[in-house]
Amino acid sequence: MSTGGDILVHLTAAGGCLRALAARTTETVEEARRRHDAFPTAAAALGRTLTGAALLGAVLKGQQRLMIEIVGDGPLGKIVAEADAAGNVRGYVHHPHVHLPSNAQGKLDVAGAVGSGHLYVVKDLGLREPYRGLVPLVSGEIAEDLAYYLNVSEQTPSACILGVLVAPEGSVRAAGGILIQMMPGAQEDEELVQRLEERIRAMPALSRSIDEGLGPLEILLGLLEGMEPKRLEERPVRFHCSCSKERFSSGLVSLGKEELEEIARTQGGAELVCHFCGQVYHVSEDELRALIAQAGG
Ligand SMILES: [Zn+2]
Repeated sequence: MSTGGDILVHLTAAGGCLRALAARTTETVEEARRRHDAFPTAAAALGRTLTGAALLGAVLKGQQRLMIEIVGDGPLGKIVAEADAAGNVRGYVHHPHVHLPSNAQGKLDVAGAVGSGHLYVVKDLGLREPYRGLVPLVSGEIAEDLAYYLNVSEQTPSACILGVLVAPEGSVRAAGGILIQMMPGAQEDEELVQRLEERIRAMPALSRSIDEGLGPLEILLGLLEGMEPKRLEERPVRFHCSCSKERFSSGLVSLGKEELEEIARTQGGAELVCHFCGQVYHVSEDELRALIAQAGG
């Protein structure tokens, strides 16, 4: 088991031609698995998406945030992950009770559980309109799909590795991800690109390395050896949901007086469940009456 909390490291290399990010997300993914009671294949798919969001979120600042949505026609349904600039990630999978037989490589069959469909990225960068990108899923394995999105939609040549190791009893043993991006100008450096591709191909499975106790910095430094890696930043990553009873209550108020009275009359109180973290909020009939007064008439 990896120890020491989840972390994301951000490096540059080859004189700024490369941006390299690596994250250990074991605790974050295990927390998500536990909250959503996700079965192994679902836990791997959700964990990869959460880790991908944390990696893409590494360049966010201040109040900026982003969301990745994987909408496939497989048994998992939709997978959603959000990340902010502080390293908070949260997410869910529509059908968490999905586990498929292993694929031909003996690995969790994430692609089979995702199916074919689309990957969406929405970035709220504090501008008037959020940025939206969309690509078809190329493999359903999520890392390749994210790399394809970055290559095609953001025109940044990128390599992405995402790994989640699930223990036989179903908990997450190790999780993490790597994202290497070529900055403008680097594409022409054929030799650098080739050397990197060879090293990525020769890498042992990322989740195994993390399980063996290798940190994201060590892993990246190994990958970028001889390419003058420079450490830029480190930030923690954690599963954290911004939901609260107050937020759900104001959402209830927006339903309007009539609808709330109907709920009070037929159900007494209300029980609200946050999709992102599974937290249940109970609103008593008294509290509902107070909200009805707020909703006015
Ligand atoms: Zn929540």
